[in-house]
Amino acid sequence: MYGVNPSKTPVKVRLATTSLAGCFGCHMSLLDIDERLLELAEIAEFDRTPLTDIKHCGRCDIALIEGGVCNAENVHVLRELRANAKILVAVGACAINGGLPAMRNSLAIGDVLHKVYGDPEREGTGVPNDLELPLPLDKVYPINEVVRVDYFLPGCPPSADAIWRYLTALILGHMPRLEPMAMNYD
Ligand code: SF4
Repeated sequence: MYGVNPSKTPVKVRLATTSLAGCFGCHMSLLDIDERLLELAEIAEFDRTPLTDIKHCGRCDIALIEGGVCNAENVHVLRELRANAKILVAVGACAINGGLPAMRNSLAIGDVLHKVYGDPEREGTGVPNDLELPLPLDKVYPINEVVRVDYFLPGCPPSADAIWRYLTALILGHMPRLEPMAMNYD
C-alpha cells in the first residue's frame, strides 16, 4: 500500500503533475478540490508540478499528465515522467485522445504553420526558426502512443470530485473507479 512503510510509520506519497498540449483546465480542476488540498498535503508531497515550479521530475509514486503530445519538448517531458513515476495517469480528454489540440490532425503541419504565421515570401512574416523553440510534431498524439500509461481518468476536465476520488484510491492502493455519471465534459 502506498503511504505506509513496513514499520507502519506514515510516509508521504510523492506526486508529480504536468501539462503538455492542454489548456490547464485539468490542473484547475485539481486545485478545485479546495480545502481537501490541506488533506492531500498531510499524505502527499509534490515533485515536479506547476504548483511547485520544480522543472525536472525526480522519483515519484504517482504522475498526473494533462494534455496531448504536440512537440519535441512534450515527448522529452513525458518520457522523463514515465521513467520516474511508479504510476502514470492520463488525466482528461487531451491526454487520452489528443482532445481539442488534435483538431489540427486533419491538416498537414506545414499548412498549419503557414496559415498561422503567414506567407514566407512576405517580408516580416514566416514560420519562426529559433533553436529555443520546440519542434512541432506532424500531429498531436495521445500520451499512450508515446509511453505506457497505467490509468486513464476521462473528462474535459474531470471534476474536482472525480480527481480527488481517483487520486485517493491510488494513494490507498485501491483500483480507481469512475461511474459514467461522475464523468464531466464541459
Ligand atoms: Fe483542457 Fe479539457 Fe484538455 Fe483538460 S481535457 S487540458 S480541460 S481541453
